[in-house]
Amino acid sequence: VVESDILLALEGVTVSFDGFKAVNDLSLYIQKGELRVIIGPNGAGKTTVLDLICGRTKVSEGSIQFKDTEVTRLKEHEIVRLGIGRKFQNPSIYEDLTVFENLEISYPKGRGVFGALGFRRSKDVIDRIHEIAEMIFLKDHLDTRSEILSHGQKQWLEIGMLLIQDPELLMLDEPVAGMSVAERVKTAELLNRIIEGRAVIVIEHDMKFVESIAHKVTVLHQGKVLAEGRMEVIQDDPKVREVYLGH
Ligand code: ADP
Repeated sequence: VVESDILLALEGVTVSFDGFKAVNDLSLYIQKGELRVIIGPNGAGKTTVLDLICGRTKVSEGSIQFKDTEVTRLKEHEIVRLGIGRKFQNPSIYEDLTVFENLEISYPKGRGVFGALGFRRSKDVIDRIHEIAEMIFLKDHLDTRSEILSHGQKQWLEIGMLLIQDPELLMLDEPVAGMSVAERVKTAELLNRIIEGRAVIVIEHDMKFVESIAHKVTVLHQGKVLAEGRMEVIQDDPKVREVYLGH
């Protein structure tokens, strides 16, 4: 590992909620170009780790570094501005807007400025919207009201709304929950396509999906890293089988 390739470093991070350590002395290093999946039983601390990275929850001990910046004490909006995008389980798209409009308002410069209100759409913005729409399998749906998209298409649109801001780190919480098999396959394709030049962290329960995307898997258990490595190796780890897979 070349140190300069590390995009995100958590070192000795602990967070206590009334004395209960939801994350306990956790160190985690994510490289550029990496697609890391975090798995672990309910309550293992997965969501809390993402909350810590984006500054929604503050660390009690330890430090978090993103690129050249120590973000440990920064506010959530300051961290997001440095280039971290986060997708929650429920899509937060504007249902009454079209796919195009949802992407347009997410474009950094066009934020909050609608075409209908006289904002002249520059060619750059339009090109970028088309590029993203193609990437998220929605190029034939640019004028579709988002409300009538399928559940999977809504999830892709939200990923597109993050991508158009060009984050260097993208964090996705169970991106394929509720998706059809075909949509899962396409989502894997999408994730493998977008990691170039950035890193993606995914929390996921669907093991088939994890196998299809993960470069490296981190297994969390009781706020600590129980195991870390390639899926093939992780699956055979007796510790993991015991706490997670139930063998
Ligand atoms: P996971 O995402 O792996 O299911 P979480 O990160 O949601 O786990 O939660 C880890 C543990 O921390 C759980 O026991 C949960 O109840 C606890 N926890 C999470 N957030 C809070 C909070 N804000 N206050 C108190 N306890 C919390």
